Amino acid sequence: MDKIKQQIKDDFPILNQQIHDEPLVYLDSAATSQKPRAVIDGITQYYQTINANTHRSVYTLGQQATDQYEAARVKVAKFINAKLAEEIVFTKGTTDSLNLVAQSFGQSNIQAGDEIVITYMEHHSNLIPWQQLAIQKQAVLKYIKLTEDGQLDMADAEVKITDKTKIVAVAHASNVLGVTNDVKKLGQLAHEHNAVIVVDGAQSVPHFPVDVQDLDADFYAFSGHKMLGPMGIGVLYGKEQLLRAMPPYQYGGEMINFVEEYQSSWADIPLKFEAGTQNVVGAIVLGQAIDYLQSIGMDEIASYEHELVAYALPKLLAIDGLTIYGPKDPNLHNGVISFNIAGLHPHDVATAFDMDGVSVRAGHHCAQPLMKYLGVVATVRASFYLYNTKEDIDKLVQAIIDTKEFFK
Ligand code: PLP
Repeated sequence: MDKIKQQIKDDFPILNQQIHDEPLVYLDSAATSQKPRAVIDGITQYYQTINANTHRSVYTLGQQATDQYEAARVKVAKFINAKLAEEIVFTKGTTDSLNLVAQSFGQSNIQAGDEIVITYMEHHSNLIPWQQLAIQKQAVLKYIKLTEDGQLDMADAEVKITDKTKIVAVAHASNVLGVTNDVKKLGQLAHEHNAVIVVDGAQSVPHFPVDVQDLDADFYAFSGHKMLGPMGIGVLYGKEQLLRAMPPYQYGGEMINFVEEYQSSWADIPLKFEAGTQNVVGAIVLGQAIDYLQSIGMDEIASYEHELVAYALPKLLAIDGLTIYGPKDPNLHNGVISFNIAGLHPHDVATAFDMDGVSVRAGHHCAQPLMKYLGVVATVRASFYLYNTKEDIDKLVQAIIDTKEFFK
């Protein structure tokens, strides 16, 4: 923990700058995380020393690139405790991973009248692929409700998940409400009804330890760029037997076993799902981001973020005219806090904060059905990560006070 406070910020060169003559306070890690020097250097290092295409070259560089790409797969598998490295498919990100499941597993397993269960707190990435699949297959899309304070209503989950359910798709952690969902329990419910559970891990894997075997998740998706890695690389974990039974998602080079004029056969998993030249540097550097996270420890990161939230929430709750969406108890809250200031549009608020050097997100956060459910058009969102400090939160609080004063 002490290591976090002293050294972390210095490891992130981007944070050492001024915005409008104020030190940058970056509070938008739920959108994308900043990158430590090790990750930035890793990208240059790759292109300066081993850049070559993978799985198809016998020369030294090609083999090194392949070895490092596959070593990154092993590292990711260990990071989330997958049983096999073959259960890790590299994708472009969470969105790509979820579309892969919807198009490959969904197209071949969903029939008219089947039910797909999601929740009111889903990001569009874990909503539209299921909505469109339901339309294509004449299946039924159902939403699990939320409680008054923005948690998932588990009693409603028990009602919504039935023998007709084929897929339950749910975020492990919300990108708006700051809540963590009991995906293990939801998985048990899904499995009792012979359905699969698909977990959107975009806001969980970067922030706390995730063990896909303990959760008994069938599919688990996440993005490299939200966990200190580069943009354009992501992961789909899928249980071996499910991935083996699924048809390819895309067709082309790399993903084949043998091609004839009028028919083809496919490579084994996971390459069956990795058509064309992949983001090799992205995967390798994601491995370096994981090294960085592990050098601090995921438990330490989770408890540090919790300390930040426990510091921030009472200060924010004490501000007159501020509405917080999601639980008010820090023990039920992770490092994402969404709020509105009475009478002010979130975009005006975020623009005013920027004048104080404070970067927050304002908008619907790719969760329009959730905004409708909450009865708002948009919110302001501050999100914390391992490089934030209590001083950052003090600056956020000051920015709120300044903004209220400015618009008075
Ligand atoms: N799911 C959640 C909960 C998210 O917060 C995000 C990104 O904000 C996504 C999915 C989509 O991630 P990506 O844009 O990296 O595919």
